[in-house]
Amino acid sequence: MSAQNVVYLDNNATTRVAPEVLSAMLPFFSERYGNPSSMHSFGGGVGREMREARESLAGLLGCGADEIIFTSCGTESDNTAIRSALTAQPEKRHIVTTRVEHPAVLSLCKFLERSQGYRVTYLGVDAQGRLDMQELTDSLTDDTAIISVMWANNETGVLFPVPEIATLAKSRGVMMHTDAVQAVGKVPINLGELDVDMLSLSGHKLHAPKGVGALFVRRKLPYRPYLIGGHQEHGKRAGTENTTGIIALGAAAKAAKAHLPAENTVVRALRDRLENALLAAVPDSRLNGHATERLPNTSNISFKYIEGEAILLLLDQLGIAASSGSACTSGSLEPSHVLRAMGVPFTFAHGSIRFSLSRYTTDADVDYVVKNVPGIIETLRTISPYKQGLADPLDPKKRECGS
Ligand SMILES: *Cc1c(COP(=O)(O)O)cnc(C)c1O
Repeated sequence: MSAQNVVYLDNNATTRVAPEVLSAMLPFFSERYGNPSSMHSFGGGVGREMREARESLAGLLGCGADEIIFTSCGTESDNTAIRSALTAQPEKRHIVTTRVEHPAVLSLCKFLERSQGYRVTYLGVDAQGRLDMQELTDSLTDDTAIISVMWANNETGVLFPVPEIATLAKSRGVMMHTDAVQAVGKVPINLGELDVDMLSLSGHKLHAPKGVGALFVRRKLPYRPYLIGGHQEHGKRAGTENTTGIIALGAAAKAAKAHLPAENTVVRALRDRLENALLAAVPDSRLNGHATERLPNTSNISFKYIEGEAILLLLDQLGIAASSGSACTSGSLEPSHVLRAMGVPFTFAHGSIRFSLSRYTTDADVDYVVKNVPGIIETLRTISPYKQGLADPLDPKKRECGS
């Protein structure tokens, strides 16, 4: 299926490269192939463009250009931040994070816990997906090396109070990292006014291509590089730079800054129309996540009694691209760890669909989804075994649920 005839509502998975981003980056694939570390002006010119890109990104985040490290992706930024905090403070052996993080943080923490002997606190969330600040406060000890808490949840869009958490972390002398991959470009961020020490972002989630990301590291923060080698990125991340990707990320940051205020209202209005129409038209449906403390582009809706995967297949046949919250990995029927942490009932958690919009989403896209989804749900429900009163294999009382 080509981009022309897909209704793309999976922007939290990845985004279209913006046309202005593509045109900015193309010359760096062809004529402008110099290495920014070279002594000659052919390479040096590329270095100058890279500095501009760094400044554009710093402009979006409200930080200094010298506080930006370009990386290969959001995952690398997350891994670098957490490992740096641990390596820089070898005496501290405790990590605080949440149960609803992206695997880029969660799987790393589980690895550090199981294989490296770190103690990890996984904070829970309430039914709306919100953190309990008291639980967070109580979890901190003199042994805590880092708090790593995402800014916006990729599945539900729920926002955590990162500014407040960062202030708390600073007052307790604990480093604070935030995975802001879903937040950057979607909510205003001004690192100049925050106590956040490190922040991760990823190009392909904000209309730059895949393969480039960045990590903000506050000036003077003790830092240990993850990749060791050459002197690139002020000695903080070795390896010849992804010049094309970096130029693209700079252009995407500039565009995000320009679009952010309008997107906040336009995309939110489209999202609300889609969400309200579906919740009204489909009985036994519910919103997952807090109604307002949420990204403007994300709507996670559960349709009781059916499997998200079945909905996705029928949506796909109609040219609608969305995501399911119940990753049926390796044949298991585990609903998403995020929805489980929120205590979403199993009969709902399995039928969850994430619609994530972007500045390229149109009124016609929303109309098309609103017109087609209720019929899909009705069709699936007529064949759903759960609806017909058969044993519910997803009932937690009847089956053990792994962690
Ligand atoms: C996509 C995503 C990541 C991973 O970013 P990559 O660039 O794909 O490695 C990390 N955290 C969140 C919240 C994400 O949505």
